[in-house]
Amino acid sequence: MAGRLRLCVSDCLLGTPCRYDGKAKPNAAVRELAALDEVEIVRVCPERASRLPVPRPPAERRGDRVVLETGEDVTRAFTEGAKREVERAIAAGCTHAVLKAKSPSCGTGRVYDGTFSGTLCDGWGIAAERLRDFGVACASEEAVETKGAVAFLMESLESSSSAR
Ligand code: SF4
Repeated sequence: MAGRLRLCVSDCLLGTPCRYDGKAKPNAAVRELAALDEVEIVRVCPERASRLPVPRPPAERRGDRVVLETGEDVTRAFTEGAKREVERAIAAGCTHAVLKAKSPSCGTGRVYDGTFSGTLCDGWGIAAERLRDFGVACASEEAVETKGAVAFLMESLESSSSAR
């Protein structure tokens, strides 16, 4: 296998307890991918970077905003956290990202709809949207699980070389 992949990864998927409830969401396929020799990871957690207290109530996107289940609008904190982490990932040269599905920060294409009823809608997390707009190819942990870590790596390396 030729080349290296500089990959931005949601830290909770690697087992870091950085979620709003103080827990992690370790994912075996993502950890396998991150451990491959050809992969150089940059761990990100936009919500940790937002410096909001932990634990706190869950948040969802509601249109352009982010709100806690209590109704508090946390858009500004989420946006600032996203800016910090995306800046770091871009400066580190990340071309790809594996991000936690459905999160108001990290969701890629599907997020909870702001009603706190478990309903999904089309949409992106604040940080994922920003990474995407910088040209980073974003996928969720579900894509790594479906393809398998090695196939995901090979496909990502191929897409990097054809984009050059
Ligand atoms: S902001 Fe992203 S990385 Fe941080 S806990 Fe939430 S989903 Fe995981």
